[in-house]
Amino acid sequence: MQKYEKLEKIGEGTYGTVFKAKNRETLEIVALKRVRLDDEDEGVPSSALREICLLKELKHKNIVRLYDVLHSDKKLTLVFEHCDQDLKKYFDSLNGDIDPDVVKSFMFQLLRGLAFCHGHNVLHRDLKPQNLLINKPTMMQHKIVNGELKLADFGLARAFGIPVKCYSAEVVTLWYRPPDVLFGAKLYNTSIDMWSAGCIFAELANSGRPLFPGSDVEDQLKRIFKLLGTPTEDTWPGHNQLPDYKPFPVYHPTASIAQVVPKLGGKGRDLLQRLLNCNPNHRLSSEEAMAHSYFNDLPPAIRNL
Ligand code: AMP
Repeated sequence: MQKYEKLEKIGEGTYGTVFKAKNRETLEIVALKRVRLDDEDEGVPSSALREICLLKELKHKNIVRLYDVLHSDKKLTLVFEHCDQDLKKYFDSLNGDIDPDVVKSFMFQLLRGLAFCHGHNVLHRDLKPQNLLINKPTMMQHKIVNGELKLADFGLARAFGIPVKCYSAEVVTLWYRPPDVLFGAKLYNTSIDMWSAGCIFAELANSGRPLFPGSDVEDQLKRIFKLLGTPTEDTWPGHNQLPDYKPFPVYHPTASIAQVVPKLGGKGRDLLQRLLNCNPNHRLSSEEAMAHSYFNDLPPAIRNL
């Protein structure tokens, strides 16, 4: 820890407190995350340590780099690359709409980060705007300058368990959880992150208004089914066998996706619809989503950012 000079606190996350810090040798600014464990006396489980150390190899421009893992005194501190701010704070700071080109650029980078992690068999399982970090975009002569997006907290759910409550006693948000997980599905696969990506896409397109801001599991599912229709044995075989399944009224999709994301064009709406499929087997993968025609006019500078 002597290697780093702690500067100010920058956030309170699901797993602990985050500080800005400076590497005393290189002067590089980093983010230190002190992980709080449920049972501090027991120390850090070796399984968690193994998982975390594997994440150091996950190197990609759309993933927040984990530089170092410091383990001493039964405590765990993760040293991450530092970014300007998270997407939630960016939404809160906006006055006006997000430029449609920025929506497209952020969405593409989100999918590219996901494709990389999924390709390495790492799931996120708790994607939300708070753990998408950005370096702020600016528009210059109708072109986006900067505006990188990076996924944070990848793999932590697997190392420490899927979060049920935050360190700060805040309740973990259900807004980005897919219906299969809300019904208690335990066999998680990459489709869990694709649902979250769909919810975040709609939120980006609406300049920060969440798509399904449910207050509890039942309310969350109700909001989803009211928009997309209640699943049936035809649309999603076997869903009524899931551990926490309970029947819901038969909602028929009333509001079309177009009403919910009025600023997204036809191609964007088509992509959104394919991500927000209640049946996890029918949700697009990140590679498929990146190949969608919505991204046909993505500037090469962003494709190669
Ligand atoms: P998290 O535990 O990742 O949800 O972190 C809580 C908050 O701390 C985030 O919402 C960010 O605002 C901030 N934060 C986390 N990691 C970083 C980082 N690498 N760079 C800058 N801010 C961060």
